[in-house]
Amino acid sequence: MTRKVNYIFVTGGVTSSLGKGIISASLAKLLQGRGYEVTIQKLDPYINIDPGTLNPYEHGECFVTDDGAETDLDLGHYERFLNVRTSQANNVTTGRIYQSVIDKERRGEYLGKTVQIIPHITDEIKSRIKILGKTGNYDFIITEIGGTVGDIESLPYIEAVRQIIWEHENDSLVIHLTLVPYLKAAGELKTKPTQHSVKALLELGVQPDILVCRTEYHMNSEMRNKIAKFCNVSPNAVIESIDANTIYDVPVLMKDEQLDKVVLEKLQMPSSGEADLSNWEAYLKRFKNPKNEVNIALIGKYIELKDSYKSIAESFNHASAALECKVNVKWVHSEKITDENIDSILKNIDGVLVAPGFGSRGIEGKIQAIRYIREHNIPFLGICLGMQCAVIEFARNVLGMKGANSTEIDEDTEFPVISIMEDQKNIENMGGSMRLGAYDCELKKGSHAYKAYKKDIIQERHRHRYEFNNAYLDVMNKNGLVATGVNPESKLVEIMELESHPYFVGVQFHPEYKSTVATPSPIFISFIEASLIKKNRSK
Ligand code: GLN
Repeated sequence: MTRKVNYIFVTGGVTSSLGKGIISASLAKLLQGRGYEVTIQKLDPYINIDPGTLNPYEHGECFVTDDGAETDLDLGHYERFLNVRTSQANNVTTGRIYQSVIDKERRGEYLGKTVQIIPHITDEIKSRIKILGKTGNYDFIITEIGGTVGDIESLPYIEAVRQIIWEHENDSLVIHLTLVPYLKAAGELKTKPTQHSVKALLELGVQPDILVCRTEYHMNSEMRNKIAKFCNVSPNAVIESIDANTIYDVPVLMKDEQLDKVVLEKLQMPSSGEADLSNWEAYLKRFKNPKNEVNIALIGKYIELKDSYKSIAESFNHASAALECKVNVKWVHSEKITDENIDSILKNIDGVLVAPGFGSRGIEGKIQAIRYIREHNIPFLGICLGMQCAVIEFARNVLGMKGANSTEIDEDTEFPVISIMEDQKNIENMGGSMRLGAYDCELKKGSHAYKAYKKDIIQERHRHRYEFNNAYLDVMNKNGLVATGVNPESKLVEIMELESHPYFVGVQFHPEYKSTVATPSPIFISFIEASLIKKNRSK
């Protein structure tokens, strides 16, 4: 029997940041807990081809998939919640839509027709939505439309949704997220913004089936009835989404609100029984009842916007639950670090993570911090640029290579310990020269990495342009900074560890992208374990 593919659209009204991504992921989790195959897709109405070239201050972290797509950070939530891998097909931007329509026009595929937003752009959007449905792998495709209803740039997306609903009457529905604000002066919750936002959607020809109302206080049944009446939805389809302590509470809250049940009923699917969230609830229990705690410093240059390090912060949460050890993160701005203040910055810190990044800003602070960490035996995990900084620091301060650097920072350095590999040169396009996506890494037995992963070969995801320069491998190895992970084909160095140190691990890849609730990152776990040992040792 061919499976019934259902399309669920998630739109947002009133304001951004209502948590569409988390609601989509939570619904997907509930459907998965009922035995269904689900995937989630994000459509972003901006004109960039992908978020790869965006500054993290714009939309937070750029998430990278196994197949090397640079995507919106919401895909990270999808993977962390569902433990299902996403790919390029799960994130589409207006830029990508227009690019393919224009390419088709140049190839003459429109046979001389005038190319227009409707039907050509909307058809392209529709085909991107249906691509996942056509794989035959999924019962549900949840498509999150970025932005807020009423924005000019999201109009073609809403129009595409309207058409798909028309074509798939029994296999599609729309969930609209709104805000129900609390007015202090009036002492009550207000439904008018929700009414207006549904009206905005109706003007575009889309009647939402379910309303998820983000609120700081519980809504009573009178309010739910009022919203239902004004917005043409049934009262049980007015779902409360109250502020939660952690995003991992949201699937449980949505289960209590019966979001999955209402969805299944509307799609005429069996809705008896309930979603099995037992593993999820066990995770939450461990996460909320820690037996230990550690203080970790995260050194980065985008710390004003914590979303810039979303996957790292979530990887700490996953490791925290696995070890039942609370991870208190102290966010340290790399530009603020000096020789004078490093001692007080790292006081009471049990482990330090030096974050990824691009460009020279804040780099010297990272290098200074790493020197201190190395000399004071503080557990260290360096990710990507963090690993590169560890190599630079070692070259300068242990091997005496004055001015050693990455050629990203100093093109003319005498000691280019991190540099661009020959076969990468001559690639002009900014997006083109990066090593992106999952690559194999062979681990050296006895290393921290091997003890963490317990495997000979692992796959982790990359997102960088510069590499460890193998011309310096021998001298580093001989002096105790050892390559413990190497790509078996290219021989590019993936992991460096300092032998004489309790825990000093730099990884060229980004382990944070693969960490999920069900499968926490092994290297994060081993780093937190090492930090806990250090804490107990210094008591
Ligand atoms: N800027 C460095 C590079 O391109 C590191 C990138 C990163 O940390 N993701 O190689």
